[in-house]
Amino acid sequence: MFNTAISSFQCDFCRSTHCVEQKPAPKNVHIPAETFKIVKCTRCHLVSLYPIPTPQMIQEIYTQYSEKKDRLRVEQIRRDTVYPHKIKKLKQYAPGNRLLDIGAGLGTFVDLAKQEGFDPVGIELSTEQCHHAKTLYGLDLINEDVFHIKDELGQFDVIHLHHVLEHVPSPSQLLDLITTRIHKHGILLIEVPYQLTRIQDIIHYPATKKKYPTPCMDHIYFFSPQTLAQMVTAKGFHILEFNQHRPDTPPEDLSPVWYYLRQAFRKFTTALWLPSGSFIELYCQQ
Ligand SMILES: [Zn+2]
Repeated sequence: MFNTAISSFQCDFCRSTHCVEQKPAPKNVHIPAETFKIVKCTRCHLVSLYPIPTPQMIQEIYTQYSEKKDRLRVEQIRRDTVYPHKIKKLKQYAPGNRLLDIGAGLGTFVDLAKQEGFDPVGIELSTEQCHHAKTLYGLDLINEDVFHIKDELGQFDVIHLHHVLEHVPSPSQLLDLITTRIHKHGILLIEVPYQLTRIQDIIHYPATKKKYPTPCMDHIYFFSPQTLAQMVTAKGFHILEFNQHRPDTPPEDLSPVWYYLRQAFRKFTTALWLPSGSFIELYCQQ
């Protein structure tokens, strides 16, 4: 079982040095097989790339990332259907209105949260995205690595990580940082893609006839609801809600019948913590 070729593996979560390579390589994740493998920790089952990309590689990936053609289209879908739903839930759960959006991107979530009465701060590593946020919404995002966030910003009632945790070299370290930045009873909202499930190949992709959009290497971790939940609970959070969601209205390329059948199936499987969605969403409380 133990793959001896993977000599310097250490799990980001449980620190085990034992893993197995995931074979065959999943067809929906395009990684250069000569450089990377996908491995699973044998102790805690966290799945990641091996080796973890170097900071230089990560920088190269993000230079291409912001040039993705469908970036604005995806952002519009998030603005119209994904984010309003999250903000409504956060208003119910949050003990206050100070909100930190880590990896704020184009600033859309920050803009909507502000309109809904939150006092939001967005932090974004990409200078280019910060410029876009200024142009689109007049927002001044903090153009900085989150690990350099200044102490005077204090603590927050809500911390939001939208498709961020799967991109960072150490999710465990980022969650440790978050625990120092969140108020007692504060809400952490995480969404990550749910990849590498057979059900995704069977249900989602044939239904939409789409290829999986991940180009290569920008996702370092491949969470399941279980591996994500065990990580946040180990950092002192308890889980308020787990969802596997898609937008609330049928996408244009999917028949309504198929869409509503899929929604029903998703509700049933989510109740049992079984895979059926393309995204994992967790609302957690400190
Ligand atoms: Zn592990």
